[in-house]
Amino acid sequence: MDRTTRIAVVGAGLGGMTAAGLLQAAGFTVSVYEQAAAFSRIGAGIHFSSNVMLVMRRLGIEQALSAIGLHPDAFVSRKWDTGEILFELPLDAGREAHYGAAYINVHRGDLHAVMETALTRGSLQFNKRLRALDDTGDVIRLEFEDGTQAEADLVVGADGVNSKVREFVLGPGRPQYTGQIAHRAVFPSALLNGLPIRACTKWWGEGNHILVYYMTQTREEVYLVSSAPQAEWSEMTSFVPCDRDEFLSVFDGYHPELRQVIEAAPEVTKWPVFARERIPCWHKNRIVLLGDACHAMKPYMAAGAAMAIEDAAVLARCIGEIGRRGPAESFAWYEANRMPRVNKVQDISSQNIWLRQPVDPDWLFKYDACQIPLVAPAAAAPAP
Ligand SMILES: Cc1cc2nc3c(=O)[nH]c(=O)nc-3n(C[C@H](O)[C@H](O)[C@H](O)COP(=O)(O)OP(=O)(O)OC[C@H]3O[C@@H](n4cnc5c(N)ncnc54)[C@H](O)[C@@H]3O)c2cc1C
Repeated sequence: MDRTTRIAVVGAGLGGMTAAGLLQAAGFTVSVYEQAAAFSRIGAGIHFSSNVMLVMRRLGIEQALSAIGLHPDAFVSRKWDTGEILFELPLDAGREAHYGAAYINVHRGDLHAVMETALTRGSLQFNKRLRALDDTGDVIRLEFEDGTQAEADLVVGADGVNSKVREFVLGPGRPQYTGQIAHRAVFPSALLNGLPIRACTKWWGEGNHILVYYMTQTREEVYLVSSAPQAEWSEMTSFVPCDRDEFLSVFDGYHPELRQVIEAAPEVTKWPVFARERIPCWHKNRIVLLGDACHAMKPYMAAGAAMAIEDAAVLARCIGEIGRRGPAESFAWYEANRMPRVNKVQDISSQNIWLRQPVDPDWLFKYDACQIPLVAPAAAAPAP
């Protein structure tokens, strides 16, 4: 597409930041509009598997992330009560070479700080909560809650599970509460009183689970993230504090090692898990969606952000390399190349089976969204 095309990215999450950085690198003028006042170091970690790190390489920040993130020697799956090891996926240096990049655990706040360095200075604006989009045919007008406006030739909706941009593509609709919540806690490792724990362990219970991992090279903080059923979510906020006794009771009967870890957590928060139904189209005219805005999924494969980032990389290629006949062509290629893979990940995430038992993760980890040959829409086959 013509490099004079002005692109607006709505949402500076992991998908939006990646899309903006790669489109800028391809020569486009890109503005990013984010509703938050600033990036905050919220208490949460994230796994970045090698397929994500390959995109970070293209963004020029792989080394910086690799330097702050923790490189686990393995992903360990254990049975909730006996502690039996169900599966151990090695992630050591040898595996890094096999997958083509590292697998890291990183703090989301640290991640955002590094990702911001990949954007052109001044192209990211905070306090810009999108209120309306008006596609006039020639240009798209963006209106923000603060009363300001902007113009673009193409809009990328990277505004997450509650996407406003999605309403302009598909009409009104809310994400569905899945009946599951996630507990989250971050605390100093010193509170473990010397208990040795592995770098990254998922404890599989019956109807619930909990992941425990370090997020930084220095291992000074431990992160817990769980899944547990809760019939309703009526809060208007994205998370609430969780009563500690309530949290501990959910994991009653778990193995003593896990109990010792969760009992060390001084504060716990509770987050609802929302998802979206699968949709057959991710664009309308000059507006296109990526990440949770079009395919929010249960987070049980730790790959929702990975899919948003891969989407961003493939979308940037389809806009930059394809689409001489306009955005419709770029977006048709984008959907054809992304939907089969995203659907597969969404299905596995829903079943919550990933890495519980021996599995070959090559198809996920070795995928390089920046280099994989793109297939023409009619030729797109289901993901292997
Ligand atoms: C408990 C839990 C654990 C997870 N763990 C992992 C993991 O380990 N690995 C992984 O890959 N994924 C994980 N995920 C999934 C992952 O967090 C999401 O899939 C991912 O963040 C989606 O990225 P995104 O860029 O599409 O949206 P988001 O990261 O949600 O970003 C959207 C951005 O848009 C902004 N925004 C929203 N509305 C507006 C508006 N109207 N105007 C302007 N800006 C707006 C938001 O403030 C936000 O910054 C987890 C999810 C949960 C719930």
